[in-house]
Amino acid sequence: MVNRIAVIGGGTMGRGIAYTAAISGFEVTLQDISTEAVEIAREYIEALLGKSRENGYVQQHQEIWAKKNLYYTTELQKAVSKADLVIEAVPEIIELKIEVFKQLDKYAPAHAVLATNTSTMSPTEIAASTTRPDQCIAMHFFNPVHQMKLIEIIRGLDTSGETIEIVKQAAEKMGKVPVEVNEFPGFVTSRMNCLIGNEAMNMLMEGVASIEDIDKAIKYGLNHPMGPLELADLVGLDTRLRNMEYLYRHLGEKYRPSPILVKYVKAGRLGRKSGRGFYDYS
Ligand code: NAD
Repeated sequence: MVNRIAVIGGGTMGRGIAYTAAISGFEVTLQDISTEAVEIAREYIEALLGKSRENGYVQQHQEIWAKKNLYYTTELQKAVSKADLVIEAVPEIIELKIEVFKQLDKYAPAHAVLATNTSTMSPTEIAASTTRPDQCIAMHFFNPVHQMKLIEIIRGLDTSGETIEIVKQAAEKMGKVPVEVNEFPGFVTSRMNCLIGNEAMNMLMEGVASIEDIDKAIKYGLNHPMGPLELADLVGLDTRLRNMEYLYRHLGEKYRPSPILVKYVKAGRLGRKSGRGFYDYS
């Protein structure tokens, strides 16, 4: 039974997961190593709570609960010491995730389930750094977390059936639809979505159409809710590049990151998070 959730990493995904868990009745602690990131996450969540209440997305009791039961910290040990479920949302770097999982294993209660929100990577490899691989799993949320219904649940080699049930129940309590996916790089969604985005970037580089027209074509012709370039900006181009690099390493040539993606990241044009990506948000 999950009552307390700790979210590690308060960036694009972590703050969305913390908000969604809090309005769903969990007690939540959001941790980030950066004081600035914690403050940005707090402001984002408070603004979203106010907006959600105004437009009827959350009821008054949910807002009151979330305000009382959401904590913020930079200290990992404090964040996880009473958690039943820990959801890690630090950058998509395997060495970093392994290091964080070692810390989670050390400081989280023995019964706690440790979940990674990785978009592409092997939960088995991440779990292998812990003494509880049976309680480790991947729980892949989507962006924006409060709006997207899906959570891909990926069991590692040693993940127990009980762990799967625990995260499924937590996902359902958050109003999400969990699907079980076998472990393979990129699972179902990132494997598909990264290819679409990369192809759009290659088309842009080849001069096939403008940024706006590529997005319009995919939105209105293929009925996607967002164009692939605006979606990449929402995801974060640094995150998308890390996803592509991992898939390229594990699945081969088809996933070679588009040179334009590499160039944008080098320029610091990371999408919405930096104010400029394929589009200008300033
Ligand atoms: P992000 O860069 O927006 O945020 C990452 C946060 O982690 C930052 O605030 C950073 O300060 C913090 N951090 C770094 N090292 C840390 C540590 N050791 N301990 C605690 N915090 C630390 O990244 P993001 O887009 O939120 O991605 C996080 C994870 O979620 C990645 O694995 C990514 O692949 C996955 N994901 C991202 C999306 C998306 O649309 N952005 C969607 C699904 C899954």
